[in-house]
Amino acid sequence: MVRDAIEAVIKAILNEKVFLNELDEKIGDGDHGSNMAGGAQAAKEVLAEQDDDATLKEILQALGDAVTENVGGSAGPLYGAALQEAAKVLKKNSKLDAVTLEKIFGAAVEAIQLRGNSRRGDKTMLDVLIPIRETFRATNCAGKTFEDILTDARDAARDGLEFTKTIAARKGRAAALGDKSIGFEDPGAASSLIIFRTLCSKWKDSLRS
Ligand code: ADP
Ligand code: MG
Repeated sequence: MVRDAIEAVIKAILNEKVFLNELDEKIGDGDHGSNMAGGAQAAKEVLAEQDDDATLKEILQALGDAVTENVGGSAGPLYGAALQEAAKVLKKNSKLDAVTLEKIFGAAVEAIQLRGNSRRGDKTMLDVLIPIRETFRATNCAGKTFEDILTDARDAARDGLEFTKTIAARKGRAAALGDKSIGFEDPGAASSLIIFRTLCSKWKDSLRS
């Protein structure tokens, strides 16, 4: 299931490479899709090297190391650190439920905030990733099925990307544009949504099968 989900993410990123470059052309330097495609390529190689019985913890750790080492731009090291810290909170046999997802996204968000010195509202990938993490908090999950929680998280991620259109960038290259960055989606927030949307649809498929 994990392997299948990661393969789907790799495919989605490669499909959206041109779109992500175009978003980054508007408020950055036009390379976000290419940087993410480099990450997808590195992820492909990591997956090929994993034993059949590799745990999610081991796979995320290997992905984090590969992305940190091989992926350029500011997004590469940020996504790399997020994956490495997410791997650390997992146990060998962690079950992928809302509690675990809250820990994974919590660790990822904190890693990005620490490395990027950034927060919600700066017009970055955090504007998608923080709302996802919030959705998985126990108080927001009470009385909901796992499928409903995933739907809420995906909607929160989509709203987060929409929100980046309405604000001026305070971090990354787009920050140099100030108010001129208003009206455009943040490329990193867009790639985070693509990744999460793909994972959600794979998780939902696996709940039904
Ligand atoms: P670069 O900006 O170096 O060209 P990319 O184009 O690959 O790198 O990535 C740009 C994305 O990285 C932005 O759209 C934003 O989401 C994210 N980003 C940049 N700086 C930060 C930061 N300090 N904190 C969080 N995210 C950031
Ligand atoms: Mg760029």
